[in-house]
Amino acid sequence: MHDALPAAYDPQAVERKWQARWEERGTHRVDLAGARRPFYNLMMFPYPSAEGLHVGNLYAFTGADIFGRFRRLGGFDVFQPLGFDAFGIHSENYALKVGVHPAELIPRNIENFRTQLRRAGLMVDWRYAVSTTDPAYYKWTQWIFLQLHKAGLAVKKRAAVNWCPACKTVLANEQVVGGYCERHPDTLVEQRTLDQWFFTITKYAAKLLDNLATADWSHSTRTLQTNWIGRSEGADLVFETPGGHRITVFTTRPDTLFGATYVVLAPEHPLVDALTTAECRADVNAYRRKAAAMDMVTRRVGEKEKTGVFTGAYARNPATGESIPIWIASYVLMEYGTGAIMAVPGHDERDFAFATKFALPIARVIAAPGQDPAAPMAQAEPDIPDGRLVNSPGYEGMPWAEAKRVITTALESKGLATAVVNYRLHDWCISRQRYWGPPIPIIYCNACGTVPVPEKDLPVVLPQLEDFRPDDTGISPLARNEAWYRVPCPACGKTARRETDVSDTFLDSAWYFLRYPSADRNDVPFDAALTKRWLPVTSYIGGNEHAVLHLMYARFITMALKDLGHLDFEEPFPRFRAHGLIVKDGAKMSKSRGNVVIPDRYIEQWGADTFRMYLMFLGPYQDGGDFRDAGIVGIRRFLDKIWGLLDRVGAGAQAHQRTGVPAYQGADAEALVRHLHRTIQRVTADTEALAYNTAIAAMMEYVNALQKGEPSAVLIEPLVVMLAPYAPHFAEECWERFGHSTSVMDARWPAFDSALAVEEQVEFVVQVNGKLRARLLLPRGTPEGAAVAAAQAEPGVARFTEGEVPRKVIFVPDRLVNIVV
Ligand SMILES: [Zn+2]
Ligand SMILES: [Zn+2]
Repeated sequence: MHDALPAAYDPQAVERKWQARWEERGTHRVDLAGARRPFYNLMMFPYPSAEGLHVGNLYAFTGADIFGRFRRLGGFDVFQPLGFDAFGIHSENYALKVGVHPAELIPRNIENFRTQLRRAGLMVDWRYAVSTTDPAYYKWTQWIFLQLHKAGLAVKKRAAVNWCPACKTVLANEQVVGGYCERHPDTLVEQRTLDQWFFTITKYAAKLLDNLATADWSHSTRTLQTNWIGRSEGADLVFETPGGHRITVFTTRPDTLFGATYVVLAPEHPLVDALTTAECRADVNAYRRKAAAMDMVTRRVGEKEKTGVFTGAYARNPATGESIPIWIASYVLMEYGTGAIMAVPGHDERDFAFATKFALPIARVIAAPGQDPAAPMAQAEPDIPDGRLVNSPGYEGMPWAEAKRVITTALESKGLATAVVNYRLHDWCISRQRYWGPPIPIIYCNACGTVPVPEKDLPVVLPQLEDFRPDDTGISPLARNEAWYRVPCPACGKTARRETDVSDTFLDSAWYFLRYPSADRNDVPFDAALTKRWLPVTSYIGGNEHAVLHLMYARFITMALKDLGHLDFEEPFPRFRAHGLIVKDGAKMSKSRGNVVIPDRYIEQWGADTFRMYLMFLGPYQDGGDFRDAGIVGIRRFLDKIWGLLDRVGAGAQAHQRTGVPAYQGADAEALVRHLHRTIQRVTADTEALAYNTAIAAMMEYVNALQKGEPSAVLIEPLVVMLAPYAPHFAEECWERFGHSTSVMDARWPAFDSALAVEEQVEFVVQVNGKLRARLLLPRGTPEGAAVAAAQAEPGVARFTEGEVPRKVIFVPDRLVNIVV
């Protein structure tokens, strides 16, 4: 069993040996069907890029791996799978760039990733790896589409969509950042009108939001998702025209209704034609033509100079009864709200700019206490937290939040208002006019209409297409392959046509955690018994860059599958922790800066264990850290010291029973035992809290103490177990050197004795002017200042020192405080 290794710590030899041993012994395997204490430790699966594993990937995985190993040592059956999120535009664009087909490129990348991940020492059960590009996987992605379609949650809509001219495809709202493409930060996203498949995630908006309240999630992640769902309470208000038309506007501030001095419609609003007067028609039509030519993003963001035109018509403000003008302007969009707004220039910046330009009236209707309601307004005053209503007859002096409700209720009785809850969340557009994705399983027949592909015909295999370059037509490259898309209609048998769009990559990753335990099953997407045993996921660790995309979609798919009877839980990730990001010398890593850290180089030079620990030592795992090469040698030295300690106590020593308190002799040994228990207590609490950096620091302090004292095997063995999650190969080797023949991962996490873990107390004699006045128990090593303060707080001492300034203090560490007054 005991392979001969060089005397000095040689990470390459140790790691090679244990990686082979783990595979041979199946150390990382878990018995899914028989597990008694299942712990599903999920980490976000990577996109297997051609560049290979990024240090950011490794940072995320290592932190998750430490937690999984910690739970295993705590007695859980830990399932820790990994897979590959390999469909999508990243892979396709890269394939186009290098001129290799993705079907060839992706398996190559995956193989490379696997090798790198093995080298990193992750506790992965590779028997359950999945790749989203595998027909055995996407068969079930398509199956999920069909279930949602059956339930009316997948619908086709003709809609204005975000189109990236560089990607040549539709983007979800979540993929548009400040009007630009997430992948092309220099490319403005345009508006296009296309027929698209949508998942109606908005039906779940309330549940997606409400459940967050009880989710054990990182605060930052919960906040990001809450804001993205964007619930707002307000009202639909009706502005009537003399001609009997009703213009409905949504507002979150019905309390400002008295300040609504005009109405603005989207140029496409269906009432524009009917409302426009003969005198204004030419101007209105010209403006509408101009707006139609503008892209969506400019319209949404708003032009620098406000534009708009008067329709010649008026509507009645339902609160004041006054006639106010109706304008049209490009910044009002049909896609949002009702396509009409009430303008409150006194309390909205955009309305203020518009009113100023076109000389429309501006009124103050909310004022801070003491503010003159009649003073002219030099700018909009949007937020007055303690504001009360002014210039609003019948509601004068009412706090605005209360007025919001009261005014809505008053108008509701007249049929002029409806209280509404609005969400910022939009339906999820899942159509992509690209090649590298699962075909959407739909067939169009002239006689039968839209026909879902029968489940028995799944998967709809993505055909091998040599020319898969997207073009500007908005039609998927699959539409060039007639032999593929012409199929008999499953209902009537006549010639029909397949849907040629593929689905969004985020659908692939919205259910992968359901698949892992059943990855070897071809008859079901997920086995009922295994799902019951292993899901929902016990712990999920990942990056906040997926807070609003992946996490929300996965929650939605889970909720939908639950409602359709396929699952018995609705939240897939009851516990989620966001890890931080690492930067390099203070700057974000990027290719253009040339500061990307390639993990392979460091692993080759230092070994995976040192590299893992170094990454974790950079800062609190949930905050991230700054990668500076200089620090890595300190970690290596730490492992060398432990190796040296093993030499000192005698390699090949007998395995020890680590139950109870180790025997010791003398004060020195007692101090080390206390230090050990204190270390176990700290490392346990810190690892549990993902505070890996401070756990490592505690182990370092302990090792320094061992070096100075009389180390023994019983003092080192528990350290080796605590080290196993952090430096798994190294810990295995040490464990074997102690004479164990089983994996350290099958050991038990050491327990600590809280009586020993508290700092050792020593008795101080307290004197005043040389006379004994008190005895005090204080932690060993208490510094002078703290000891004197504690002494002076003793009533028996205070009696003699009160009001006096000590002339002198005699301090003997751990023994004596003598205050001379
Ligand atoms: Zn793009
Ligand atoms: Zn048919």
